[in-house]
Amino acid sequence: KLLVVGSINMDIVSTVSQFPLPGETIASVRTDFFPGGKGANQAVAAARAGADCGMIGAVGDDSFAAALLAALQQDGIATEQILRKPGSSGFAIITVNEEGENHIVLTAGANGQLTAEDAAAGAGNGADVFAVLLQNEIPWDTNFAVMSSAHSSGARVFYNPAPARAFPDHVFPLLHTLIMNETEAAVITGLAVNDEHSAKASAEWALDKGVEEVIITLGAKGCFYLNKQGQAAAVSAFKVKPVDTTAAGDTFFGAYAAASADGLSAEDALTFAAAAAALAVTKQGAQASIPNKADIEAFLQR
Ligand code: ADP
Repeated sequence: KLLVVGSINMDIVSTVSQFPLPGETIASVRTDFFPGGKGANQAVAAARAGADCGMIGAVGDDSFAAALLAALQQDGIATEQILRKPGSSGFAIITVNEEGENHIVLTAGANGQLTAEDAAAGAGNGADVFAVLLQNEIPWDTNFAVMSSAHSSGARVFYNPAPARAFPDHVFPLLHTLIMNETEAAVITGLAVNDEHSAKASAEWALDKGVEEVIITLGAKGCFYLNKQGQAAAVSAFKVKPVDTTAAGDTFFGAYAAASADGLSAEDALTFAAAAAALAVTKQGAQASIPNKADIEAFLQR
């Protein structure tokens, strides 16, 4: 079983013909409400890819809370360990103009109130947990407590440090899998990453610090994998017509974790994840674009 500890947000997306100027009021073309947050997106990706998946996180006591929980439950994600905190749920106010550019204002809300005590209790008590998945949209102290308790309970720690933020050296040995895109790899390892060669250097840097395996995703250029035993793999991205790359990384990560929990080899799990992410970029939206296992397998058979 997989456990995602992370953010749960409502994304409020207003399409506008032009961004308003300071002091100006404009009408939106349309406004939609989409469940999001990196943690929730990754949980949805893992569950649709076939994993038995639960989530630890927090929602507020506002009217978004029920919709956010229902969205997770619809994908069969266990929500009993999601807490309710006084105040608002996490949400993002997003405006998108006709050119597809966006402005985003993120409110952490309940995500910012998820404490180390809240999360570590749940993350440490499951001998049946194969891996715990973490990102950077909850407080760092909470992430660190979960990494420590999961590591000592024998669960693998899969960490996607997004949004990008450097972390101390003593954290690396707690991690089984460190998965980063080019920006994250550059911030964390201090090395510019834009191709297989530079990804290898960056991965070696992280392995030296004590991680078991590193995956660096390179957008349409695919991904690079290297583990402590020196096993390397470069998996190309599938050729598709990109419509919206939102949640490509979240989909890749969730699908990779699901495939690993299923016992697939690293290379097979990476291919499965690349297929899932390729399908996600052919569709608009975040959670709406995340494929299920049957779609991923059909795509791989084609
Ligand atoms: P993030 O969304 O975190 O920035 P990336 O852009 O590196 O992550 O994408 C993650 C993975 O998604 C890539 O390794 C690749 O497999 C897949 N992917 C991303 N963009 C494309 C694309 N345009 N075509 C096909 N696959 C893609």
